[in-house]
Amino acid sequence: ANGGGGAARLEKILVSVRLRPLSDKETAKGDQAEWECINDTTIISRSTFPDRPTAPTAYSFDRVFRSDCNTKEVYEEGAKAVALSVVSGINSSVFAYGQTSSGKTYTMTGITEHTAADIYDYIAKHEERAFVLKFSAIEIYNEVVRDLLTAESTSLRLWDDAEGTYVENLTEVILRDSHHLKELISVCEAQRRTGETYLNENSSRSHQILKLTIESSAREFVGKDKSTTLVASVNFVDLAGSERASQALSAGTRLKEGCHINRSLLTLGTVIRKLSKVRNGHIPYRDSKLTRILQPSLGGNARTAIICTMSPARSHMEQSRNTLLFASCAK
Ligand code: ADP
Ligand code: MG
Repeated sequence: ANGGGGAARLEKILVSVRLRPLSDKETAKGDQAEWECINDTTIISRSTFPDRPTAPTAYSFDRVFRSDCNTKEVYEEGAKAVALSVVSGINSSVFAYGQTSSGKTYTMTGITEHTAADIYDYIAKHEERAFVLKFSAIEIYNEVVRDLLTAESTSLRLWDDAEGTYVENLTEVILRDSHHLKELISVCEAQRRTGETYLNENSSRSHQILKLTIESSAREFVGKDKSTTLVASVNFVDLAGSERASQALSAGTRLKEGCHINRSLLTLGTVIRKLSKVRNGHIPYRDSKLTRILQPSLGGNARTAIICTMSPARSHMEQSRNTLLFASCAK
């Protein structure tokens, strides 16, 4: 709604929840589906929480996706409008949030590929403009930023200028087509698996950001007038497992200060909560690497979609409820 007094219209964050099917492992353990989508916007738990009989059992969002929805559907209704604003020169971010093994990577990989396919469709239909698509990819682990397109595992520094925060020496590849993008995504996946993160534990602690940047200009001005070039980026953010945030919150202040594994996730939560409520107060973008890097694509004119992924299993009920509470705060 309009804030009145001529305030700029607040673009809400698009928040959806995706339930995955019970896995074979969960089924084999005799686990049962606890959560159910009763329509396109509401998800309910079949039982109440034993220790919290008064906790709500129904949660509503812009969209909820049943376990038999495919990623194309999730993309079309949970991300497309936000991600494709990039062709009009508007920055955007699409996040996958949820506990480890809830389906974040599965969902984000598909969404990134569907977005690229639609961007290439758009380019083919707009011959009057010349487009250049660039791709870069980073991982943030323990507040250390690493390039996912090189084999070196050096930590990259951030630096600021009047326009924003940059990742120093980051590889940026000019894309040939959507097949080229798929190849690069595989390179990133391999990097993520062989990197330090995996050896130390697993990728559930790291954030991955895949970034597509589009530059376009009217053909008649190509190479002549830089001021007519439109540049915008869309970020696909596969977050660290949300169980990390719950752990940090319950561990108390002392531990939280000493360990910054979760700083980016916690700060993102604060930033998103603030963005969804008031857009004028202080937003603590500078408190973590993730939010510093994403600042140009969060708030302001930028558009944001969050897809919260969930296992339906009863054994994950508590984590799933935490995910729904996070999603509710972002609305
Ligand atoms: P996360 O990235 O959250 O840790 P993954 O995306 O790796 O989780 O998903 C865990 C497993 O579940 C993978 O084997 C993945 O293929 C499978 N999976 C996730 N979501 C779905 C879904 N919607 N439909 C079918 N399989 C899924
Ligand atoms: Mg993953």
